[in-house]
Amino acid sequence: MEALSLALQTEALRKVLHSIRAGERGVVIFDLDGTLFDNRPRTLAILNQAADGWAARDPEAARAVRSLRFTELGYLASETLEQVGVDRTLIEEAVQLWRERFFTDDILSHDVPLAGAVSFAKACYEAGANLAYLTGRDLPNMALGTFRSLRDAGFPIGLPGTELVLKPDFETPDLTFKRDITPEITRLGRVAATFDNEPGNCNAFAEMFPEGHHFMMLTQYAPNPPPLKDGVAVIQDFRMES
Ligand SMILES: [Mg+2]
Repeated sequence: MEALSLALQTEALRKVLHSIRAGERGVVIFDLDGTLFDNRPRTLAILNQAADGWAARDPEAARAVRSLRFTELGYLASETLEQVGVDRTLIEEAVQLWRERFFTDDILSHDVPLAGAVSFAKACYEAGANLAYLTGRDLPNMALGTFRSLRDAGFPIGLPGTELVLKPDFETPDLTFKRDITPEITRLGRVAATFDNEPGNCNAFAEMFPEGHHFMMLTQYAPNPPPLKDGVAVIQDFRMES
């Protein structure tokens, strides 16, 4: 998959803003992880916490982790650790810690918005759209930290016309959840645009709302993705040329 050039990305995002201004009340659906936020800094923070525990046992492994930049992390942290020479046992420990901490409120403050994400979400809101943050994060463990991180990053939240929609439980698969709940989002208006980093979700949105503008963020996605449907534009972030 290849992302649009910055010029074409700008044009496509401008079209979304035009379509919000032009039609009846529109809603824009934003996924969070891998879409509005780069969550690799969150993963790296956990790996560093793991490395703190190894410092005495294996200082070299600890040093290797501490020198990682978040941009070096792939979809699976275990693969990145393997590449920098961390041994199996420590990798398993790190992965265990990641599973325990990644999906919890307190660690979410490490997430960093994608380039242009805050400005674009604001522009959609100011153009008159309702915003629905639709995430596979779960309500019991991640709602409060998510609200906080949206607020602290400067995204419109806690305002009329903004919604934070989370999974009712940890176990439901994201795609199932999004397929089931998305039709409810039309309560807020016609779906003008959707943004997600998982091709399966993007395809589902494109099927449900053929009139909308649909975007796949080329950040990270789960292995073995389905082919992306025609009509889903691939972009790398939310930057717009001036
Ligand atoms: Mg995502």
